[in-house]
This record gives sequence, structure tokens and C-alpha cells, in this order.
Amino acid sequence: MRLDRFVCKSTDFTKNEALQLIHAGEVLVNDEAIINEATQVHENNTIILHGNRLKTRAFRYLLMHKPINTICSNIDEKSYPSLFNLLDVARTSELHIAGRLDADTSGLVLMTDDGRWTFNIISPSKNCKKVYRVGLSREISGDVVEQFKEGVQLQGETKLTLPAELTIITPKEVLLSLTEGKFHQVKRMFAAVGNKVISLHREKIGAISLDVDLGEWRHLTLDEVKALR
Ligand code: URA
Repeated sequence: MRLDRFVCKSTDFTKNEALQLIHAGEVLVNDEAIINEATQVHENNTIILHGNRLKTRAFRYLLMHKPINTICSNIDEKSYPSLFNLLDVARTSELHIAGRLDADTSGLVLMTDDGRWTFNIISPSKNCKKVYRVGLSREISGDVVEQFKEGVQLQGETKLTLPAELTIITPKEVLLSLTEGKFHQVKRMFAAVGNKVISLHREKIGAISLDVDLGEWRHLTLDEVKALR
């Protein structure tokens, strides 16, 4: 990563403060003062500031129970507050959401600053299942199970959706398991078969189930983090 990013990620300095320190020759990389902030560095390099070796902070992995009427963005919008307001941890601006939910969707959200881990969750090639509990406006017919297994055509898309598992709980309540996450995918899939989603809640991502109350959060365990690698 770039030297200025490394300094920010290993201290509480802002980007401007990190730049000033680098330009002043105060940051040593392998015993040499480096004044170009774009220099690529690695954790294995010895990077020293004011006599202290800098180490980047460990990645963070969190789980939250998202309430409806909040948004999966780092900043508030006019109509809805950011989900990040519910988190009492430092530097929330460094976190992102691994698989966003719509403002009117509730349920399991994973937050992290580890982009590679997020890729494993959101990329369809990684086959990570997300399970949604869906409330419908019309009664569902058994044919839809087969249609979703085969893939349906969403408006504006060129390819069919990937095979999805549909479990009917009652005629108007189902569980849907997806390995991809196109924009408004669940709502668009039911629209494609002539139905309408009236409530949407994510219960599970991979092996991780929602186990905290509405609006609450917790850190993931090491085993949970590894299970999604
Ligand atoms: N699909 C949707 O339509 N909305 C969500 O929030 C998640 C999946």
C-alpha cells in the first residue's frame, strides 16, 4: 500500500498530517527517510516514525441487526440515517458493508475494513449463500420454486439469475437463498413472477446467522471470519 495510507492505518494521524510528516522526512522505511508519499510499502518493511515501529491495525469484522429506515452508507441521507450511527466504535468511515440492504430491508449486515474478505461474500463466484425471509402481497404458487431454480429474467439484465433455492413457509411467506446480489434482486425476482415483496429480512450469510437484537451489533469470532474466507 502507499506510504501515506500505511501511516494513516497505523496511527491516528489524518491524511494531511501523514503527508506533512512524510514530506518532512520523519518517516523512515528500512532506515531511509522517504519523502514520496506514493512509495509502495509492505508490512514486512521496517517503517519508523519518531523512533516507533509502525504496524497497521488488525482488520475489523462486525455483525449488525439492521432496522428498517436506515441506510447502508457511511453518511446520512436526507430521508434516512446511516446504519453506522448505531455503532460505537472508532473510525467508522474506514468500514464498509459486505452486501448492502435497501432502506426498507432489515436483518443481518456484515461490516469490515477488509476488502478481500468482502469479495468472498459478495462475488457470485464464491458461492456464499444469503438467506432472506420474504413477505409477499400475493399467494405464491409451487411453480416458482422451479422457476427460481432455473433462473429468471430480470428487467434490464442480459443473463438469467443464478439458481436460487425457494422454500415456501406459508402462501405469503418464503425463504429465498441467493448466491448473487444484484441491485434490488429479491424484489425484482418476485416482480418477474408477478408478485410483490412487502417485507424483506436477511437471516443468514454463509454460516453466520443473525443472533443480536434489532439495532445491536457484535464483533465476529475468529472462526466466523475464517468460515467466510
Ligand atoms: N434484495 C432486495 O431487493 N433488497 C435488499 O435489500 C436485498 C436483496
